[in-house]
Amino acid sequence: MAPVGGAIQPSSDYAEELLRDLERLRGWPDKVLTMQRNWIGKSIGAEILFPLVGREGALSVFTTRQDTVYGATFVSLAVEHPRALELSQGTAQEEAVRHFIERTKNLSQAKRGAEEGEKEGVFTGAYCRNPFTGETIPIYLANFVLMEYGSGAVMAVPAHDQRDFEFARKYGLPVRVVIQPKDQRVKPEDLTEAYVEEGVMVDSGPFSGLNNVEGQEKIALYIEEKGWGKKTVRYRLRDWGVSRQRYWGTPIPIIYCDNCGVVPVPEGDLPVTLPNDVPFTGKGGSPLQESPLFRQVRCPKCGGTARRETDTMDTFVDSSWYFLRYASPKFHSAPFNFQSAGYWMPVDQYIGGVEHAVLHLLYARFFTKALRDIGLVPVDEPFTNLLTQGMVSKETYRCVEHNWLFPGELIGSEKEGWRCPQCNRPVEKGRVEKMSKSKKNIVDPEDLINRYGADTARLFTLFAAPPEKDLEWSDQGVEGAYRFLTRLWRFVGQHRNLMRGINSNLSEDELPPDLREIRRVIHKTIKKVTDDIDTRFHFNTAIAAIMELFNSLSAATQDERRLKEGSSLFKGGLEAIIVLLSPFVPHIANELWEQLGHVERLDQISWPIYSEMALEEEKLLIVVQVNGKVRGKITVSADVEQREIEAEALRDLKVKSFLDGKKVQKVVYVPRRLVNIVAEG
Ligand SMILES: [Zn+2]
Ligand SMILES: [Zn+2]
Repeated sequence: MAPVGGAIQPSSDYAEELLRDLERLRGWPDKVLTMQRNWIGKSIGAEILFPLVGREGALSVFTTRQDTVYGATFVSLAVEHPRALELSQGTAQEEAVRHFIERTKNLSQAKRGAEEGEKEGVFTGAYCRNPFTGETIPIYLANFVLMEYGSGAVMAVPAHDQRDFEFARKYGLPVRVVIQPKDQRVKPEDLTEAYVEEGVMVDSGPFSGLNNVEGQEKIALYIEEKGWGKKTVRYRLRDWGVSRQRYWGTPIPIIYCDNCGVVPVPEGDLPVTLPNDVPFTGKGGSPLQESPLFRQVRCPKCGGTARRETDTMDTFVDSSWYFLRYASPKFHSAPFNFQSAGYWMPVDQYIGGVEHAVLHLLYARFFTKALRDIGLVPVDEPFTNLLTQGMVSKETYRCVEHNWLFPGELIGSEKEGWRCPQCNRPVEKGRVEKMSKSKKNIVDPEDLINRYGADTARLFTLFAAPPEKDLEWSDQGVEGAYRFLTRLWRFVGQHRNLMRGINSNLSEDELPPDLREIRRVIHKTIKKVTDDIDTRFHFNTAIAAIMELFNSLSAATQDERRLKEGSSLFKGGLEAIIVLLSPFVPHIANELWEQLGHVERLDQISWPIYSEMALEEEKLLIVVQVNGKVRGKITVSADVEQREIEAEALRDLKVKSFLDGKKVQKVVYVPRRLVNIVAEG
């Protein structure tokens, strides 16, 4: 095991890095990036100094709403603020302040911070100055201000903060609107609650007229310029409690001893495994508490009686690093080997559902960074590319009385209408919904495999939609996939004897034009399938291209003469189809490959390579006649359709001059050779 050297940073540093790295991760869907950005909060705030009036010093106020500073009409302190009592000394308020502090201190933080709790406070008798307005404003103690929030001092902006609003209304403090909704004028006396939405800054000195989000950054910079405080960046990374009162999960390797306190299980005793004698009583709490064998343990330090931790870890703990174990599955002295982790990580391609966008993917990123910092992995990020696949959905059926029904248990027919097997009432064909057991709109792969084989099930699933999109299950689609594989099977059977006797050739030079065109389509398909799989995971379009190639080949081979003439090319094309299909339908592809007489296994054959030269379209020189006389020549690609060739002929300037405004009556096309335009006059 590599020496464990570094230290884990405070979570705010990780937040910064987790956010920054999002910018350089490639292939991560926007949806996921946005969700992670929302989960890790970053806000530009400010620390502003409000100078005390008539005495030394200033109150340092932390805020993330510096855009509302022109509306700060008082300052509120937590009762624990170091100057809370001192500020009132020598004023008429001293007694009231002392009393309020005593009363509030003993309330729980949660109760004090609660949104719906009664807002209470007391005037300290002291004042400070809002540096932006120059105004002298009172300093209050307020029960909802906590020391944890910034410095325990907040600038109170009643018009734009709900708690300040309630407080101001209760104690008759001024409310000043400094952010207006876009197309509306809000007056303080009309406010029934604080206006906390975005808007335009008003009565805010040089910042009036700005959008407040813009103002947030500008004011933070202005504070630094003026020396009134500084800009701050606050990160919010939500805490994650990892212990669960469940049987399944990884035991937390901790022992509690009355003499020694919390003692970690010594490394030699790891891993702690789950006991098998646990009764599941359903009465709540961790089931592991019910196992005396598990719970009672000797203290590793003093040898006295001790208790084992009976909570287990959230399964997310394991999903945050399991990929590292894959890099060294046979390593015994530690969870994973540093060198192997360095060799295999990061994971090149991760595929998962979007439901993992925040928790799992963020935790795995966080774990990797923390493991890096203690010297266990040499990478910053676990997954480079991310593909979030869509869901599979299917129509649902529902009886008013018997709720969701499986399509297979319905009676009746599509035409006459389906009925409930229990009450015979017509059932409602419901919405197409994400497949779920409870809605009974699932398809058992076992049934499909028994009926059509695994290859059909795979081909349909991959063909139905690109992986990032939702897929609507369709029984007709399954049939279609099955028909295609059946046609291919028959085709190979039909031509097997001919093909076995010849060598395939995809690069023959001397080919007649029509076979050259078929060769081009084969190479084009190889290129498309390779690109679709390799860069985009668009298996659906890859499969569609293979199907098209198969259609071209089977149409072209209808002609006996051409089949004989181009047999090497056709064999090459058929082999390409089988190899290109093999990742999607491995069983049938291997079987067909053998039928063509190959001894070497299909998975040992290299992926086909296309030739740029063969991709070039064949050009045709077409003679253009007007009323039977040669009037011009045009060059077109061989795969261009007749309609386009005729249009091209009519557009030709030379030809046009001979037409000279005459009305075109008819256009005759002789394939690959000429266009004759019949014009009147
Ligand atoms: Zn002990
Ligand atoms: Zn029913």
